[in-house]
Amino acid sequence: MSLIVHKYGGTSMGSTERIKNVAKRVAKWSRAGYQMVVVPSAMSGETNRLLGLAKELSPASQGQGTLRELDMLASTGEQVSSALLAIALQAEGLEAVSYAGWQVAIKTNSAFTKARIESIDDARVRADLAQGKVVIITGFQGVDEQNNITTLGRGGSDTSAVAVAAALKASECLIYTDVDGVYTTDPRVVPEAKRLHTVSFEEMLEMASMGSKVLQIRSVEFAGKYKVPLRVLSSFTPWDIDLTEEASSGTLISFEEDEKMEQAIVSGIAFNRDEAKISVLGVPDKPGIAFQILGAVANANIEVDMIIQNVSKDGKTDFSFTVNRGEHAKTIELLKSKVLPELGASEVVGDTKICKVSIVGIGMRSHVGVASKMFKTLSDEGINIQMISTSEIKTSVVIDEKYMELAVRALHKTFDLDQDKA
Ligand code: ADP
Ligand code: ASP
Ligand code: MG
Repeated sequence: MSLIVHKYGGTSMGSTERIKNVAKRVAKWSRAGYQMVVVPSAMSGETNRLLGLAKELSPASQGQGTLRELDMLASTGEQVSSALLAIALQAEGLEAVSYAGWQVAIKTNSAFTKARIESIDDARVRADLAQGKVVIITGFQGVDEQNNITTLGRGGSDTSAVAVAAALKASECLIYTDVDGVYTTDPRVVPEAKRLHTVSFEEMLEMASMGSKVLQIRSVEFAGKYKVPLRVLSSFTPWDIDLTEEASSGTLISFEEDEKMEQAIVSGIAFNRDEAKISVLGVPDKPGIAFQILGAVANANIEVDMIIQNVSKDGKTDFSFTVNRGEHAKTIELLKSKVLPELGASEVVGDTKICKVSIVGIGMRSHVGVASKMFKTLSDEGINIQMISTSEIKTSVVIDEKYMELAVRALHKTFDLDQDKA
């Protein structure tokens, strides 16, 4: 009997009515003979509400102790939705049981609010499945070595679902959400965006890492590492649509590079408003400065994304990089207190009003001039580029946040993504 993992996002779990609908859909799959594991997110708005309460009490919730408590707090959202789904499934006449991450257990490291999954014990889940139960496992959370509850970063239920699917060697992981698949760009920003029937794993990885929130980046990394077949589809179709039709709807994340995909030079456009730029000015241009700056940042467990160092003038240079916006103040504080005095740099400045826009496509490997076409489009719109980074299959730029939508729309048009594909 094949085992399937379903993941339902916050909007899909947003009310008891919607949970009932999810239960009916899961029951349909279970009755069709599949072993079912379901990973729900918290009801929509709940994680924000909980974190908002914490902020009222402690506006700068940065200390290790506070981060631990934020995870205690935020993890409750998924516990509520999971229990409600189990109750709804039981009301449908199925045997169902829900578990919090620590009960499974989903073991993580201790990086509170952005923990990484290290192992999943499948014994309890397998025993339940063998007895014909539907097993519900809270998304977004785990437990560390010292039995502290941890969470996996915003959007982390995707990662929980794929990791659970990998641990159980599920035949497929279906990510049910509020759009009917992965689009050429966020359909909420560009209404002309088109759904992709398949997207290559590598493209999805770049799109997710460049800010497409439809899948959390780590879920795509897990899918790649353990070759978990992954599909993104809508939870808003009628629950009783034909199962075969449902199973082939949405967007398949494909591990095969078929010919059709090779033809798309640019498959999608991603954007990210969650970063901030930090520049260390007047740094003496000598070996070791990148290490001194970024080593200190990494030691504080702050992730760095784009990096540039300017050419030096009079033996001094400027060094800029981007971090998550939430860690901007902490990074500046760290640089001012620890790094600047040692470096002999003159100043550190930050800019939170930036965004990153990226074009992604495996066809970029075999085509030249794609990046310059991107730069020309931005220049025609009068948009200044502050930073650039490239990989084999993507080009990203940092621009002023106020031009984000303009840039995404213009690029979507330039690369013919508005056109229906044959
Ligand atoms: P869930 O709560 O189900 O996890 P999310 O809000 O995390 O849902 O992700 C779904 C959202 O991702 C969509 O509503 C859409 O606005 C956004 N999104 C961003 N980029 C894309 C894209 N390329 N294709 C589809 N959706 C996208
Ligand atoms: N509830 C968590 C969040 O809002 C995890 C998730 O939805 O995937 O970020
Ligand atoms: Mg999500």
